[in-house]
Amino acid sequence: MALLKGKTAVVTGGSSGIGRGIARGFAEHGAEAVVVADVQEDPKEGGRPTHELLEAETDTSSVFVECDVTSRADLTEAIEAAEAAGGIDIMVNNAGIWHAEDFFEVTEDEFQRMIEINLKGVYFGSQIAAERLVEHGDGGAIINISSIAGLFGNGNWPTYSASKGGLTTFTYSLAHKLGDHGIRVNAIHPGGIQTMIGGETTDPEAAAEQARQFTQMVPLGRYGQPEDIAGAATFLASDLANYVTGESLVVDGGWTSWR
Ligand code: NAP
Repeated sequence: MALLKGKTAVVTGGSSGIGRGIARGFAEHGAEAVVVADVQEDPKEGGRPTHELLEAETDTSSVFVECDVTSRADLTEAIEAAEAAGGIDIMVNNAGIWHAEDFFEVTEDEFQRMIEINLKGVYFGSQIAAERLVEHGDGGAIINISSIAGLFGNGNWPTYSASKGGLTTFTYSLAHKLGDHGIRVNAIHPGGIQTMIGGETTDPEAAAEQARQFTQMVPLGRYGQPEDIAGAATFLASDLANYVTGESLVVDGGWTSWR
């Protein structure tokens, strides 16, 4: 299926995990070009860099742009790479960090770092992409990777929830702002997806017990994979979602459907 034929996309945090999965999904659906924008080129989980993989295994052209999403200049460079590759159609603001935290111990620096990456990066990534999309005058799609933590609270990661909750309502606000231009803006809310976002597993036994408990809570009985999020992102980026904007798509195997 070539749902994204002729489309050019930027995926922040596209070297690893969910971003890598989305870049691969877009290529499998015939995207013309994918710009992989990340702080590092090599995937945390191993294997070939995303852009090399796309170039070798698909008809999609792909480049890596070193991009820290806290820098407006870096984001501009990534989006200009998409302009050079045919003109941006799809912006995926995926880069993000997560860690468990004790509310009483969070420092101003830690708070600021999480908000800068998870919220400010999405805000300005959207702003710069929208400037170009408005200039082009033929619509476009902005997809923000939030989390179920952007819909529900959790005392074990209050700053993360605050950043993702802000991202969620920012998404709705931008859908309202850009609707006149035919630009659709949507959020995806992943549940538990198997990536390296929490770092290396140090205690395999504890990880196995955690997995057992987690999968019991999830109606579909498994962790999500990056390709599960790629499917949702491909749908939202494609013409199949032509009348979908300002929406939250939860992709969590049913985890939050009953808790
Ligand atoms: P991941 O495997 O750690 O991948 C995230 C990528 O973003 C990494 O390559 C990371 O690079 C990069 N990144 C971090 N800071 C960046 C910055 N300042 N500028 C540009 N790139 C940066 O994590 P993931 O699980 O795929 O997460 C992707 C998104 O999904 C995040 O927004 C996350 O909050 C969201 N999400 C994930 C889950 C889950 O269960 N995995 C659930 C809900 C939401 P380095 O790590 O090398 O710095």
